[in-house]
Amino acid sequence: MNLFEETTCDWCGIRESEVLFEGTDLLLGLPGKFRMVRCSKCGLFRQDPRLTWESLETYYPQNYSPYETIIATEKSLLKRLDRRYGMWKRLQAIQHFQSGGKLLEVGCGTGIFLAEAQRARRWELTALEPNKEAASYIEKTLQIPVLADRFAEANLPANHFDVITMWNVLEHLDHPINDLRRAHQLLKDGGWFVFSIPNLEGLEAKVFGRYWLGWELPRHLYLFPQKQLRRILDEIGFDWVDARCIAGSHASLELSIGFLLRAKNIDNIATRFLLGLYRSLLGRVAFSPLLWLAGHFRQSTLITIFAQKKPAADIHD
Ligand SMILES: [Zn+2]
Repeated sequence: MNLFEETTCDWCGIRESEVLFEGTDLLLGLPGKFRMVRCSKCGLFRQDPRLTWESLETYYPQNYSPYETIIATEKSLLKRLDRRYGMWKRLQAIQHFQSGGKLLEVGCGTGIFLAEAQRARRWELTALEPNKEAASYIEKTLQIPVLADRFAEANLPANHFDVITMWNVLEHLDHPINDLRRAHQLLKDGGWFVFSIPNLEGLEAKVFGRYWLGWELPRHLYLFPQKQLRRILDEIGFDWVDARCIAGSHASLELSIGFLLRAKNIDNIATRFLLGLYRSLLGRVAFSPLLWLAGHFRQSTLITIFAQKKPAADIHD
């Protein structure tokens, strides 16, 4: 049985909020109704009430996409290349700021980004993945040290890492502010915290409204408007250096379109055919200039933040 709990804002600690909408699990179709609210004081978005951490476990089945070992086993060459290209873009973006060193990935799934970083031969890699099956898969295939713990509880050295990455993880955490502080603590002075989150300011969020993939109820517990996130990072001790759209767009747009069509009951042979066309190689080529433009103007589904740990002397309490 699912158990729910009331929540307070992880940043300002209050319960007061306004309800944004109620929704269901559009991605996996698992049962339940969930509610997204906005904190009345600081403006962060969160689920309230939300499933307890234990109840949420059943909403992360083994077929949840981050746990698929798609690169090794995917039959389609196009999909394999596409996934690798996505990871390569992330790595290039990081290496623009930091050429190498000690890198920790938090919530690495089955390690497709780590595999790409390993190929560059300039990173000393550490992985953290609470899902035990995914963690043992990485250990076996990449021979990288993996901690199968939650970030807050993992035994990791302070002031140690040059880069910490968190791809599409922060929004899944029940105490994201603690985890931001933890990332700050583990980085060296001048180290980089690079993380992607759903882009609330993007065009897809505006066009699809509550049917936007980025809400992903009930797995997304928090969403972060950029203005608020900037202030939070600053107070924790990070400089916000850059925000870019470098991850995901074609597949995520297809999911949002599908959610909207189903919700409006226009899921029929014609719309399915059009979606199939969109999914095909031809569709990918035809839409790539549009999606590139959306990314260039920071309008995609996901946004990646590049934050740098301030030297200790610059932090004022
Ligand atoms: Zn708040």
